[in-house]
Amino acid sequence: MYQRTDALVLKSFDFKETDQILTIFSRELGKIPVVAKGVKKPQSTLRGLVQPFCYSQFFITRSGEMYLITQGRINEFFGNIREDLDKTLQAIYILELLDKSTVERDPNPPLLDLALQVLRYMEGNPKSSIYLRFFEIKQLGLVGFAPVLDGCCNCRRTDRLYYFSPSSGGALCSDCAPRIGGKRVMPATLAALRTLQQSGLRIIPRLRLSPAVLEQMEKVMEDYLEFYLEKKLNLKEVMRTIKKS
Ligand SMILES: [Zn+2]
Repeated sequence: MYQRTDALVLKSFDFKETDQILTIFSRELGKIPVVAKGVKKPQSTLRGLVQPFCYSQFFITRSGEMYLITQGRINEFFGNIREDLDKTLQAIYILELLDKSTVERDPNPPLLDLALQVLRYMEGNPKSSIYLRFFEIKQLGLVGFAPVLDGCCNCRRTDRLYYFSPSSGGALCSDCAPRIGGKRVMPATLAALRTLQQSGLRIIPRLRLSPAVLEQMEKVMEDYLEFYLEKKLNLKEVMRTIKKS
């Protein structure tokens, strides 16, 4: 029994002499491991399909606990992203987040569409870290962990929101924060995150954000993601190192 599915390749590693095991995020089946047999042979027709962040149509068949790829074709390749090191790292980060925020065999087509939408924008626009923040905040909503940004997550008031606390679930006001804890954040940081949470990608070129706000947005989201996913985002360190060098 063959099944056709559209999927993003999240990661791959070599297996045996000529095979690879991939993790793909598929529209119909969610995140699944698949075996690409003979893919490292020069004549293999699967070679193009199995690269990270390729969006491909796969024909797969079940083999015990695993799936085997029998054939496929590339839907989208994202060549501009691949030619730019910073964009490549950003795309890999998106895939890492997708991988870490999902469990196997739990389809989430809106999450796949979000990743594709952000990759397409990155492909056609100048690089910007705001795409990552957009992906992070929308993705949290799609897996059920959206932070509260439009009011204090303790008392619900909507003014004097000067703090952020991952363990409380988002913004805190200046009355609640001393009792509950939370890090001080600039109102502009919360406002920018709120805008991304409530808007589409088309808002991004219109945003004018200072370097300090961009940096704080990154830190706030990193703390929040690490708290909710209970995982260290290893790639963040790599990206920071490359940025400095
Ligand atoms: Zn409060």
